[in-house]
Amino acid sequence: MTKTVYIKTVGCQMNVLDSEMVIADLKRHGYQVVDTPREADLLLYNTCSIREQAEEKTYSALGKLRDTKANNPDKKIGVLGCMAQKDQEVIFRRAPFVDMIVGPGQLHSLPEMISKVDAGEGRQMAVSMGRKDGKQSLVARSHETFDPLRDPAMRPTPFQAYLRIQIGCDKFCTYCVVPNTRGPEQGRAPSEIISEARILAKQGCLEITLLGQTVNSYRHRSDEGETDLAALLEQLHEIDGIRRLKFVTSYPKDMSRRLLETVRDLPKCSPYLHVPAQSGSDEVLKRMKRGYTVAEYMEMFERIEDVIPNAAVSSDFIVGFCGETDEDFQKSVALVERCRFKNSFIFQYSVRGGTKAAERLEDDVPREVKAARNHELLEVQNRVSKEHHLKMIGSTVEVLVEGPSKKSKNADPDAPAVQMTGRTHCDRIVVFDGNRRQAGQVLDVHIDEVTSNTLIGRVRQVEVVSIGL
Ligand code: SAM
Ligand code: SF4
Repeated sequence: MTKTVYIKTVGCQMNVLDSEMVIADLKRHGYQVVDTPREADLLLYNTCSIREQAEEKTYSALGKLRDTKANNPDKKIGVLGCMAQKDQEVIFRRAPFVDMIVGPGQLHSLPEMISKVDAGEGRQMAVSMGRKDGKQSLVARSHETFDPLRDPAMRPTPFQAYLRIQIGCDKFCTYCVVPNTRGPEQGRAPSEIISEARILAKQGCLEITLLGQTVNSYRHRSDEGETDLAALLEQLHEIDGIRRLKFVTSYPKDMSRRLLETVRDLPKCSPYLHVPAQSGSDEVLKRMKRGYTVAEYMEMFERIEDVIPNAAVSSDFIVGFCGETDEDFQKSVALVERCRFKNSFIFQYSVRGGTKAAERLEDDVPREVKAARNHELLEVQNRVSKEHHLKMIGSTVEVLVEGPSKKSKNADPDAPAVQMTGRTHCDRIVVFDGNRRQAGQVLDVHIDEVTSNTLIGRVRQVEVVSIGL
């Protein structure tokens, strides 16, 4: 009999990719995906620990399942991802009806764990080793993933896919849980990455986004020598069918001229770089242990401007980090004004257990001040983003069409015309009036209007040249 699975994914692109892998694996074990927890035999929550708010949302969603489980004891509940790795048994204590806890490096164990629960062996937990639990090579192995399993049906669109090239992180920024939850930095073997990209191209994927926490630090050493991100991009560029290559997230210190020149010279590489600055103040950067000063970030930024003058650069900022004064914060505002980022993701600092900042620094910026700084920085960024977009009115951009826009998601499925959405090579969001058949096409769109987040346009008529009759 077919069993049903519901999966709820929160957090970053890594989690979206992990969920795709989990579902591909479960389908091989006879599961079918359903849209609501009510219809499902197996309920999975793929979780994020980057901020407390994300964790509390998950605990609150789990709390709502208490009665569901009491009334339907055969339903199985699994908590996957970073919270599973970080909180481990704490999840069983806070939500005793959970059947399985699976860290991001142990997702391949899920089918076996489900069998054990079904066989009455009680609740199960599979997590990777802690950073100090043993030899580095054993710790690293316990965090490996199982990427070659792919399921196009689980992707946000069939034409776009994430491809992991790097696991874990060794930077240990003082505020961040990732080095603990995702383990040591490891570059996947280029041969594995290339063969996975070929499978994606065969499945009709046009755009691949390479994933890594510090993706531009990617390195893989073997007997044949060392491969870096630039060399990998050169190999991926040769694959027929792939039209766009992106990579996120970049670490400012590792943005080499050689990588930038490769992006400039390979037409499939998007001139889009996500290089989080986190703060515009040297004192704050030092306490964050980011490993660079503002002057060094600017040097890197100017290198980008020099090599790829038309590049779109985006950033992340944390506001209200330990000891951040108004003066420090104004330096972040000044950095947004100076770099004129395409967009920035702005986060209020959230203390994370197990990090150096939680152990050694005081979370001394009041909640209201964090909220006000968040609001102010977002306003400045939105103004800058809109100014970029205003300059694009009247131009024509090349759009990879993803599907109906949010506004049209619930439109009548038989309606011929709907608002469609897609992205430019520089990762800008574009909407236009079109039809569902355009999904997966690359179209020229003329831009008429803009907001800070979106370009609004119309498809340029394709000129039809008739020959003979
Ligand atoms: N590896 C990437 C990097 O170094 O930029 C991204 C890591 S994290 C998944 C994404 C963003 O979350 C970070 O860039 C940072 O701005 C934010 N973040 C991480 N830890 C945080 C914390 N404790 N509180 C608030 N924001 C945090
Ligand atoms: Fe976290 Fe810093 Fe690693 Fe990014 S580079 S994942 S912020 S520790």
